[in-house]
Amino acid sequence: MKLYNTLSKAVEDFVPNEPGKVKMYTCGPTVYHFAHIGNLRTYIMEDVLEKSFRYCGYDVTRVMNITDVGHLTSDGDTGEDKMLKGAKREKKTVMEIADFYKNAFFADCAKLNIKTPEIVQPATGCIAEFIEMVSALLEKGYAYFAEGNVYFDTSKANDYYALSGHNTEELMVGVRDDVSEDTNKRNKSDFVLWFTKSKFDDQELKWESPWGIGYPGWHIECSGICMKYLGDRLDIHCGGVDNIFPHHTNEIAQSEAYTGHKWCNYWFHVQHLNDERGKMSKSSGEFLTVSLIEEKGYDPLAYRLFCLQSHYRKPLTFTYANLDNASASYAKLIKRIAGLSAEGEVDQEAMAAYHAKFAEALSQDMNTAQGLTVLYDMLKDRALSGATKRAIAADFDTVLSLNLVREVPKKEEPVSPVIDPADMWIVEKIEERAAAKKAKNYALADAIRAELLEKGITLIDTKQGTTFKKA
Ligand code: AMP
Ligand code: ZN
Repeated sequence: MKLYNTLSKAVEDFVPNEPGKVKMYTCGPTVYHFAHIGNLRTYIMEDVLEKSFRYCGYDVTRVMNITDVGHLTSDGDTGEDKMLKGAKREKKTVMEIADFYKNAFFADCAKLNIKTPEIVQPATGCIAEFIEMVSALLEKGYAYFAEGNVYFDTSKANDYYALSGHNTEELMVGVRDDVSEDTNKRNKSDFVLWFTKSKFDDQELKWESPWGIGYPGWHIECSGICMKYLGDRLDIHCGGVDNIFPHHTNEIAQSEAYTGHKWCNYWFHVQHLNDERGKMSKSSGEFLTVSLIEEKGYDPLAYRLFCLQSHYRKPLTFTYANLDNASASYAKLIKRIAGLSAEGEVDQEAMAAYHAKFAEALSQDMNTAQGLTVLYDMLKDRALSGATKRAIAADFDTVLSLNLVREVPKKEEPVSPVIDPADMWIVEKIEERAAAKKAKNYALADAIRAELLEKGITLIDTKQGTTFKKA
């Protein structure tokens, strides 16, 4: 399988540490609000990635965190804790907010056929692990304590900008306007591992630590959770492009300082979904959620198809006109497959050949658009029976997850009319006539019809069989 690696900035052969096994980590949601459909584009494409690995024969262990503490409104170390902001907005406790939006997130994922990773870990459940890592980083001299907070010293990191391609000068001239000066930092790019001194006295969630009562920084959460479940060598780490800097850059710095070796080999990033005004956000314009598009009458899976139609490394623009097009294509596709006969044998050889073709499309840096072309070509293939087409579509759907093959509605069973015992002789005549027709004795069949007509009884032939009407 070939994948673009943000670290090397090239499409590479994917070679996991252990043959046939993939250790995969995905940054999960910050559960202070609903996910917008931009966030969900990232989760859809990560879901396709996991399923593509499986389709190509790998075993996958996938971990996702839930950020329920420590993510400030700026991705740097300034601003308010997003969870606290959500709690204030809704006049609830942070844990109530976390619980509500975590459930809402997985409900949205279910509507989009996004599989829940086997391991989902809220950050608040791993405080001891974070404290252990921060202590080790201090001991090794990669971290320092200043004015109540513990910082990571980025000048000690090996090739700090390898992932993002930034350089120190760029950062100095304000690449990120939202990174404001923190005079405790030795270097401008240093980041907080553990906060005790927050601008907010009312921080609800805090824990004892060797540095005083406080809470972890956002970046250490992902490294800690990842290593807890996947060990100190990771195959692939995923997120949206905004995660490249500073979040993933900081994860690499602290994880490699902690382990003393290279940590993660492949970095997979999904480009943003934009609306016509630019990057989608939760605070401006129409807040586009799965529920909203559902209320407007769209099937959430039409949105999934919309995402699959374009490459994950290209920015995608959302408009209702685009969603209308995807909806029309989706309805047509479902109808086409539903119209295929399910009868007969499945051609196993053809199925294996199409499996290989589809795997090839996925292996080219997860080319989902090409995968859909293989699906359309397969549906047009005259050499295949309906049953084979259905089986192949079901096989592709283990990755596409568009509910392509649905139950064909059963033919309506003929409802047997209640027959008056006095009319049973007519039923017998009808059976005699059916037998005559079967034996190609049409003369007898016609004679029976005429005999009945004479007695005022008309026979009606339908697809379900013959009924009668009395004059
Ligand atoms: P958050 O809940 O803010 O931590 O974001 C969840 C995920 O959505 C992260 O992986 C982000 O990189 C990703 N993300 C944020 N905005 C967008 C967007 N407009 N399009 C695609 N992915 C996004
Ligand atoms: Zn993360």
